[in-house]
Amino acid sequence: MNLVCSNCIQSFPADRMHVLPGWVEAPDEPGHFVITFRCHACYPAAIDDTGRRVAAWDDATAAGMGRFIDLWDIRDFLPELADSNDREAATGLVRIVRASDGKALLPRVVPDPGAVEEAGFLERLSIVATRMPSWKVLLLCLGVVLTGVYCCTALERL
Ligand SMILES: [Zn+2]
Repeated sequence: MNLVCSNCIQSFPADRMHVLPGWVEAPDEPGHFVITFRCHACYPAAIDDTGRRVAAWDDATAAGMGRFIDLWDIRDFLPELADSNDREAATGLVRIVRASDGKALLPRVVPDPGAVEEAGFLERLSIVATRMPSWKVLLLCLGVVLTGVYCCTALERL
């Protein structure tokens, strides 16, 4: 599985990519943070930019980081940040991304690509399940059971 560096637009294997919150600005909307993929060459400048923004912590950064942390469930995904406020969580996130050389967020966005292809149905279900709210998992399980019941009933009628 390959990912594309959003700076130089070249494609690399996922395990060689770095993942970080990156600041984007569009002409007609406030700037915000998005999950950003960077190749080895483009990563240092990107994490430095994010680190500078978080250190400065202006209003736009605070709002953008608040949304990013909620959207990606960062406090669940990185339990060491569970009890921190937005600013502490953002600072911690930058520290963790740096310490992991940009790998810490990779499994949050790309669950082991090899595992998805090799795992059996149940493992696949659990990979999906860990990325869904529990009520969706319940509905999915109910759907699987009902489909099974329906197929058995249909077969018995034949
Ligand atoms: Zn690049």
